[in-house]
Amino acid sequence: MAEERFVEHARDGDIHILRIANPPVNTLRTGVRAGLHAGIAAALREGARAIILMGEGRMFSAGAEMTEFNKPRQPPSLPEVFEAIETSKVPVIAAIHGSALGGGLELALVCHARVASPTAMVGLPEVKRGFVPGAGGTQRLPRLIGGEAALKIIVGGDPVSAVEAQKLGFIDAVLEGPLEAAAVEWARQNSGRSFTLARKRDDNIKGADLASFDALAASLLKRTRGQESPKGCAQAVRAALTGSFEDGLNTEREIFQKLVAGEQSFALRHIFFGEREAARVPDMPAETHPLPVKRAVVIGGGTMGGGIAMSFANFGIPVTMVEQTQEALDRGLKKCEANWERTLKSGRLSEADYAKRRALLTGSTDMGVVAEADLVIEAVFEDINVKKEIFAKLDAIARPGVVLASNTSTLDIDAIASATKRPELVVGMHFFSPANVMKLLEIVRGKASSFEAIATAMDVGKRIGKVNVVVGNCDGFVGNRMTGKRGFQLERLLLEGALPADIDRAMETYGMAMGPCATGDLAGLDIGAAVRKARGTKAPIADALVAAGRYGQKTGKGWYMYDEKRTRLPDPEVERIIVEMSEQHQVKRRKIEDAEILERMLLPMVNEGARILEEGIASRAVDIDVIFCNGFGWPAWRGGPMFWADRMGLKAVRDRLAQYAEATNDPNLKPAALIEKLAAEGGSFAAMGAKRAA
Ligand code: NAD
Repeated sequence: MAEERFVEHARDGDIHILRIANPPVNTLRTGVRAGLHAGIAAALREGARAIILMGEGRMFSAGAEMTEFNKPRQPPSLPEVFEAIETSKVPVIAAIHGSALGGGLELALVCHARVASPTAMVGLPEVKRGFVPGAGGTQRLPRLIGGEAALKIIVGGDPVSAVEAQKLGFIDAVLEGPLEAAAVEWARQNSGRSFTLARKRDDNIKGADLASFDALAASLLKRTRGQESPKGCAQAVRAALTGSFEDGLNTEREIFQKLVAGEQSFALRHIFFGEREAARVPDMPAETHPLPVKRAVVIGGGTMGGGIAMSFANFGIPVTMVEQTQEALDRGLKKCEANWERTLKSGRLSEADYAKRRALLTGSTDMGVVAEADLVIEAVFEDINVKKEIFAKLDAIARPGVVLASNTSTLDIDAIASATKRPELVVGMHFFSPANVMKLLEIVRGKASSFEAIATAMDVGKRIGKVNVVVGNCDGFVGNRMTGKRGFQLERLLLEGALPADIDRAMETYGMAMGPCATGDLAGLDIGAAVRKARGTKAPIADALVAAGRYGQKTGKGWYMYDEKRTRLPDPEVERIIVEMSEQHQVKRRKIEDAEILERMLLPMVNEGARILEEGIASRAVDIDVIFCNGFGWPAWRGGPMFWADRMGLKAVRDRLAQYAEATNDPNLKPAALIEKLAAEGGSFAAMGAKRAA
């Protein structure tokens, strides 16, 4: 029977323990719900004095089983299980270890009391999957801790520690030692006392200051732009303050059902599952083990080297920065310190953590320190000869068996590896700027890279909080190769009538953190010009800006001009250059709608993404989406470029590509063979299987 498989029933005298056993994360799938329902009934029949709910293995429960969302629900429903708990004549106590998230925490909130291990984390991350807590969380949590505290937790979606939750008032006790024994003891001592269910705790929300609540909601929602779920969360929590528990539950349910069936939630779940999928390399043998990394050395203390070194120190791994001169080293270390000091001042870092991080970062001008490294990451100038020379040195100094990684954005990993006698231990670790902030790590697999080397890079990436995607070796790898293909259409749009602000507005209204022109100004237009020069390509308008000394923010002007606060402002000079260019090319300028701008910016990326899949540079379409949502400011609630194409339908994508290819003579837009094939078959990127990234 289902309940025997998913919930274990144990007894310690008259204290009964129900252990959820649905590895790895104890989701509340049908069998678990059935097991809990039956277990509570059995415990009551047997005369239990108290019932403890726990999780087996790693955690209490990670919540609802999201793969059951799109299927007909099997009884008992979660509300039926909750009803059984709330009507129980003896107290039901949740004992939380690991984490209790989403429906898992909602299950705990229904109980008469909650106890937890000191290391446990609790939270309601539903907002990040595009919906709201759907099993009473938005109604019970405010009744336990007040509307505003609940709002912060529910709209933010980040878990809090058990200690913090106890301070806020939704954990009754934090218990040291093995949890089950401690919880049984706690139950014995407290079972006689009277418990008030969360749903009845109206004292915490009575007379809530709605104006203050609304002001907090407005400030939290300002940061979430076009995303619907934070608004839904605020609306549901507000209902707890203005009506009865039952009315609030109905409001919550309505919002939940609308959001969970919506496009944004679909996109967010696509990315959520995609990130887990991207952690699997299709052809990597299961028995592959990462090499232990206790100390890292980063070569280069510039923009990237500094950010990479900080990432290690932030996550407790000792790291040494190597620079050519003492002056450059001091500059590099100072920049890291200044960064941490900013976080310290903002209150997001404690003095103790600052000191810990600072102590983990050391510097040297002597390459000899590489001998102490378990992993070396090179982040020096983007020049193949410089990199080859450095890798030959690293190979001579580093211990045998140590992985040597390059942070190159464009260079050939195989060429870099060829400068060493250990090409199997050379990989790309492509961080994104600022490296201590951006989550994405493209791990580049060269033709000789061993599984062990890849597994080591992945393990380190995970330990320093990155989202890893293994990609093949090609110019620009995945993300930069795709964005690089937009240039032609960008120039054409400007020539046909758009201005930089129009293009950025269209992209930012869609949800991108920053449009391509503003991004170009931030990165430096001279860098793009140098890449074009090396590739023998042209971008007449961008080249004209660079020729006029407009390198972007670093020269105070690029596509825009900038004031002292770095606010971007349209520049008549740029408009003049663009309009003159239109006249020169005899193009009649017209108003271009945002929808057309968006399409013409995204289609070249999708087409290149398809080529990347054909070549096996990315293993799966969703890997590409994960790259864009973690490294390129693409909002996860839009799901990424390949998701966008699938939603448009690949037949329509093929037709539009062909149409724009003909109208603009853009060589990048000739539909990729894969798009032709999938369009003809009625297929999608999402439905393709995984291939080796090589
Ligand atoms: P940078 O110019 O800011 O820093 C390079 C640093 O390397 C300089 O401080 C220089 O003194 C140092 N250096 C040069 N030769 C050295 C040597 N032999 N030993 C020790 N130090 C040496 O450049 P950056 O922007 O940090 O880029 C570094 C690498 O990262 C490049 O390969 C670049 O393509 C790549 N990258 C850059 C970005 C970005 O946005 N800037 C993003 C991803 C990857």
